[in-house]
Amino acid sequence: MKDGNCIFCKIANGEIPSTTLYEDDDFRVILDLGPAARGHALLLPKEHYANLFELDDAVAAKALVVAKTVAEKMKKALGADGFNLVQNNGEAAGQTVFHFHMHLIPRYENDNAGISWKPGETTPEDMAEIKRLVEAQ
Ligand code: 5GP
Ligand code: ZN
Repeated sequence: MKDGNCIFCKIANGEIPSTTLYEDDDFRVILDLGPAARGHALLLPKEHYANLFELDDAVAAKALVVAKTVAEKMKKALGADGFNLVQNNGEAAGQTVFHFHMHLIPRYENDNAGISWKPGETTPEDMAEIKRLVEAQ
């Protein structure tokens, strides 16, 4: 299913042009217009899923295989020193476009992409509580 109001549906299906690095029947990988680092790309399914939780299982499984294949090519072609896969779900997690996408971000020594977090704190009790809550679902 496509969503007529969704910009990534239009890009994924070729109605809006993009710089495409890879395409098959199910996915398109395009360059991000606001890259965190040189070569930052987005993997988009051609069908509309708002986020990870809506994603069809077969599409989810294939997404990582496509990401791996394209990331390998990008890393070699661009001489990247490392690589991040990033995938945001919900505004609280930084999602701004509500069509599932995976960020493919080549990383270079001393780039300023800043994809990191300050380690927080936990306790054995809270870790046990988290485990109990998740396993109860
Ligand atoms: P999010 O914050 O939802 O995980 O990521 C959205 C990404 O889409 C951002 O990195 C942003 O730069 C990129 N983006 C938003 N609109 C467009 C667009 O029209 N074309 C392309 N190529 N990238 C876009
Ligand atoms: Zn969409």
